[in-house]
Amino acid sequence: MITINENYLKLPGVYLFSEIGRRIARFKSGNPDADIINLGIGDVTRPLPLAAIKSMRQAVDEMARPETFRGYGPEQGYDFLINSIIEHDYRPLGVELEADEIFISDGSKCDTGNIQEIFGVDNVVAVTDPVYPVYVDTNVMAGRGGNLNPPAGFEKIVYLPCNVENGFVPRLPGCRVDMIYLCYPNNPTGTTLSKAELKKWVDYARENQSVILYDAAYEAYIREQDVPHSIYEIEGAMEVAIEFRSFSKTAGFTGTRCAYTVIPKRVMGYTADGKAVSLNRLWTRRQTTKFNGVSYIVQRGAAAVYSPEGKKQVREMIDYYMTNASIIRNGLLGMGFQVFGGINAPYIWLKTPDGIDSWTFFDKLLNDARVVGTPGVGFGPSGEGYFRLTAFGTRENTIKAVERIKDGLRL
Ligand code: PLP
Repeated sequence: MITINENYLKLPGVYLFSEIGRRIARFKSGNPDADIINLGIGDVTRPLPLAAIKSMRQAVDEMARPETFRGYGPEQGYDFLINSIIEHDYRPLGVELEADEIFISDGSKCDTGNIQEIFGVDNVVAVTDPVYPVYVDTNVMAGRGGNLNPPAGFEKIVYLPCNVENGFVPRLPGCRVDMIYLCYPNNPTGTTLSKAELKKWVDYARENQSVILYDAAYEAYIREQDVPHSIYEIEGAMEVAIEFRSFSKTAGFTGTRCAYTVIPKRVMGYTADGKAVSLNRLWTRRQTTKFNGVSYIVQRGAAAVYSPEGKKQVREMIDYYMTNASIIRNGLLGMGFQVFGGINAPYIWLKTPDGIDSWTFFDKLLNDARVVGTPGVGFGPSGEGYFRLTAFGTRENTIKAVERIKDGLRL
């Protein structure tokens, strides 16, 4: 008899976006002519930067000639991309990395999901709450979650509430935790941590021999001064932090797929008898065994993002989304909503009015304004009573959505 990994059965059956899809389909069947604006999904709408397109075209031509054709590439990624990352993403921050501390991949979803494989199953996992669901679900699959106790969450996971009351700044846990997932700028709340706040986490990790898994997928959206772009700007982080970055939201690569993970060689995990082992070594072993690299064409496209032309085009793209963010943010503030995020991130997190729950608000927004967003509770227990809108729509739809909310929403 083939047995299964029963941890999978502990996951809730309905994935958040499937439930959203189901409710939209139901609404459409009753209102076939209604045009709905979706500000719920986290996908981008602007095309790839021209610099990336040009570079990928050239790479395709190289693949067409025997003398420039390339087969399997290095599992960790090509040097031309790794060196550009070191030079453009880290050196300006005063962070020095070696080439073999960077791992090119086909997405931060896979990396943030797969990284837990190199850690023991008995580690205690802490997540900020609300949270990007991948961190929780992949740990549940691996057996670190225990049972689901609604509405509190998984029994073995330590949830660190982020809400209006604490200004969306997670408190250090009261108990010992080993794997700490931090995502800044944050999805879904759009909030950030100052260097001083982040330093507390780095110090905690150093004192407790923990590791911080720092997801910086939205780094390119940071606008304000004191907001760290990388956790390695914080003293001591090179000993305790793994950082994830992606070209998805930076350069429109959601469908093209390219990201990278940084594991400084000094970051250690420990055997049961206390022997230190470099996590870089384990991840190298894991990747060389299970991953065969991102395509040459795509890596050429990603590297072009660092050319002067590419940088300019990326800046324009991010400006476009951030203008959308301020349209949503200011529009909602003008209507009297309590609004967070949208300043250093493409996400706007609003408090639902009069304490209504986030699914009820979802239905109202859909019925009254024909606008779709994401109910906060889908991101964790502390998301109840909140709602996420994204700035990734077209300008036209963003403006229209805000007008519809203003004119149509009856609370
Ligand atoms: N990390 C966060 C916080 C995200 O919101 C997302 C995508 O929405 C990802 C990672 C996934 O990025 P990628 O497209 O590189 O897999």
